[in-house]
Amino acid sequence: MEYPKEGVIWPVVPDVAKPFYKGMQQHKVLIQQCLACKTFQAPGRITCDHCGSNQLEWVEAKGTGTIYSYVVFHRSFHPYYDDKVPYTVALVELDEGPRVMGHIETNSGQEYNVGSSVRACYKTIDKNELLYFQVTDGDKS
Ligand SMILES: [Zn+2]
Repeated sequence: MEYPKEGVIWPVVPDVAKPFYKGMQQHKVLIQQCLACKTFQAPGRITCDHCGSNQLEWVEAKGTGTIYSYVVFHRSFHPYYDDKVPYTVALVELDEGPRVMGHIETNSGQEYNVGSSVRACYKTIDKNELLYFQVTDGDKS
């Protein structure tokens, strides 16, 4: 399969998850909260995973959490990433509970691991804002 030399391949987003991506464009991490049991979930779904209610609303998460798991890509699987390896993609457990995927942005040499604290940040790629996480371990703020 031949990928285009420019640009990124974007996911096909189901309607129920679109607010998450629209929030990203406004630098907000939007997750769903069940009005019946107050559980948070992401990505967006039609019903609550915990109690089955369909009474869900989108709320803004704090954007902070910890690395639950991550992978470091040392090989590019798309021309866009040829000059970006190595890069890290993590599954981040938000402080509210749900887990979301995002690239990890570090200051050069900054170490991180499972359990490291992170904060949402954003990067403009192909005119879209993409969710990244910045490692905040050791930050005084
Ligand atoms: Zn519920």
